[in-house]
Amino acid sequence: MTMEAVEYDVIVIGGALSGAATALLLKREDPSLRILIIEKDAVFKRRVGEATVEVSAYFMCRVLGLTRFLTQTQLVKNGLRFWFSNESAANPGECSEVGGRYLSTVPSFLVDRAVLDEEVLRRAVAAGAELMRPATVVSAQLHEGAQQMLVVRSDGKETSLQARWIVDASGVKCLLARANGWRRSFEEHPTLSAWARWKDVADWDCPDFVRRHPQLGSPFVGIRGTATNHLVGYGWWAWFIALKGGDTSVGVVIDPRRASWPEGDMPIGEKLRIFLSRHAAAAELLEQAKIVDGDSHFRRNLPYHSSVYARDGAVLTGDAAAFLDPFYSPGMDWLAFSATAAVRTIMTWRSGGDTAAAIEKHNRDFQTSYRRMYEALYENKYDYLGDYDLMCVAFRLDIALYYLFVARPIFRQGLALLCFPPFSAREAAPIFHLMKFYNRRLAAMGRARHRSGRFGRNNNGRRHLFAGFNFHTPHLLKIIASAMMSWLRLELTEGWKAPTAK
Ligand SMILES: Cc1cc2nc3c(=O)[nH]c(=O)nc-3n(C[C@H](O)[C@H](O)[C@H](O)COP(=O)(O)OP(=O)(O)OC[C@H]3O[C@@H](n4cnc5c(N)ncnc54)[C@H](O)[C@@H]3O)c2cc1C
Repeated sequence: MTMEAVEYDVIVIGGALSGAATALLLKREDPSLRILIIEKDAVFKRRVGEATVEVSAYFMCRVLGLTRFLTQTQLVKNGLRFWFSNESAANPGECSEVGGRYLSTVPSFLVDRAVLDEEVLRRAVAAGAELMRPATVVSAQLHEGAQQMLVVRSDGKETSLQARWIVDASGVKCLLARANGWRRSFEEHPTLSAWARWKDVADWDCPDFVRRHPQLGSPFVGIRGTATNHLVGYGWWAWFIALKGGDTSVGVVIDPRRASWPEGDMPIGEKLRIFLSRHAAAAELLEQAKIVDGDSHFRRNLPYHSSVYARDGAVLTGDAAAFLDPFYSPGMDWLAFSATAAVRTIMTWRSGGDTAAAIEKHNRDFQTSYRRMYEALYENKYDYLGDYDLMCVAFRLDIALYYLFVARPIFRQGLALLCFPPFSAREAAPIFHLMKFYNRRLAAMGRARHRSGRFGRNNNGRRHLFAGFNFHTPHLLKIIASAMMSWLRLELTEGWKAPTAK
C-alpha cells in the first residue's frame, strides 16, 4: 500500500448525482476547499431514479443550473397519472384513470441517470474538484473531529488517503453506515422491486391507440406518454417512465405481505411481464415490448435508514443516508435535501461556526423527516393505493399539501429551505398529523373493502381529469377542500365501520 501525501478537506465517496452535486455546491461555497471525488465505475450505467418531482427539479434547475441541459437532453415530465384495473376492465381505455387534463405547470423531468450523472460529475470537476475514477474506496476509518483515513483501490494498487471530512455518497452500498453499524433495515415496510428498460412499449398518445380507446380522447388535452404513469393494484404499483431516445423504464414495487412476486427459475423480465399481466392496461402496453439486454434488476427490502447522518468529519447523502419508498418519486428530493444539508454542516465547520450544534440539528432533522415521511405517506399505503376511490382522495391531498408546504416555499425562499427535509421543522407537526390521520383512515377503508370483496369496485370506467396543481393558494385550497369532501363522504358511507389499525 502507498501513502498519498496529499490531504484533502473533503473526500466524496461516489461520484453519481448526490456525490457530484455535493462536491459542486461545496466548491461554489468555497473554491479553496480541496475536494476529491472517488468513483467506482468508469462510466455510469442507467439506474433507477428516473423521475424528478418538483423539489428535485428545483434543485437541478435553479441550484445546479441544469435547466438548459435537462430541456435539451431529457424529457419534460407531465405529472403523475394513475391507472386502476379490475375484472370489468379489459383494456387501457376501460381502466379508471386519475391525472391532470393539461400539461404540468411546475417543471419536472424524466431523466436517464447515466447521462445526467455524467454531466453533474463533469461540472463538479470543472468547478475544481479532483476525480479518481475508476477507483473503489475499500475502507474508511473515522476519527471524530480529526483527520479521516481512507483506503482506495485503483489500477490494482491500494492507496491511503486523508481528509478532514468524508461525504458518503456511495448509494445503497452505504459504505459508512454499514462499516460503523449505523445502517438499519426498515422491517415495518418490507417492499421489493423489479425493473427493466424496454423497447417498443405502446405509445399512449398515438392516434391508433386513442382510436382503439376512444375514452382516452377528449376532454383530455395533455400528453400521457411523458407522465410518470402508475399502474396500481392491491399491495403493489408499477411505473412506466419514458426516456429520451425511445426506451421505457418499467418497474414494479410490491409489498410481499399483500401481493406475491412470481417464484421460480425465470428471467426477471419474464416475471415482470407475468406479474403486470394482472392489470388491464399492461398487456396492451407491453404487447410488442422487448427488454433491453442485461438491463433487468431485482431488489428486496428496499427501505433502510441510518442511526447517524452526520458526525464531526463525516456526512451521508442520498441513498447512502437512507431510502424509504419510491412511490411519488421522493428519492431525488431526499438527495437534494441531504446534499444541501451536508454542505451547510461542512460550511459551518469551515467558517468556524458551532459544528457540534450543526451536527446535532442535522441528525435530528433527518431522523424526524424519515419517520414522519413514513407515517404520513407510506404506512399501510399499499392497503389502498390500488383503489380508485381511496387513491383519488389521497393523491389530491398528498400532492396539494406537498405543493403548499414543501415545494412552493422552496421555490419562493430558495436554497436556505432546502436544508430542512420535509416535516423536520416544529411548525410542520399539524400537517404531519393531518396526513398521518387521513392516510390511516384510507388504509382502514382499503382493508375493509378488501375483506368484503369491494376493493377496486370503481377501478373501471371512471376518469378524474383535473386542472393540475400549481402554486396558487386558492387553487390548492380548492383541491384540498374537494378531496376532504370526498373523504368525508367515504367516512359517512363506509368509514365508520372500518377500524383504524393500532
Ligand atoms: C425501485 C426504485 C425506484 C426509484 N425511482 C425513483 C424515482 O422515480 N425518482 C427519484 O427521485 N428517485 C427514485 N429512486 C431513488 C433514487 O434511485 C435514488 O435516490 C438516487 O439514485 C440516489 O442517488 P445517489 O447518488 O445517492 O446514489 P447512486 O446513484 O446509487 O450512486 C452511488 C455511486 O457511488 C459509487 N460507489 C459505491 N460504492 C463505492 C465505493 N466503495 N467507492 C467508490 N464509489 C462507490 C457507485 O458506483 C455509484 O456511482 C428509486 C429507487 C428505487 C430503489
